[in-house]
Amino acid sequence: MEEKVCPKCHSDQLKKGIIQSGNASVQMFSFTNPRGQSSSMTSLYCSHCGYVLGLYVENPRNVGK
Ligand SMILES: [Zn+2]
Repeated sequence: MEEKVCPKCHSDQLKKGIIQSGNASVQMFSFTNPRGQSSSMTSLYCSHCGYVLGLYVENPRNVGK
């Protein structure tokens, strides 16, 4: 999470969020091993204008194990 300022509105009010579908968190699975471990997805977003700066896999090293 390197970005410090929103590229759209130049606010520094960046927040980390977790991506969910209803009450279930959205998970990243390995394409080659979809029955392996998955990891939740987080995002970095601007709490001023709502722009999403990026998506992150929370534990990328565990995916597909
Ligand atoms: Zn913004």
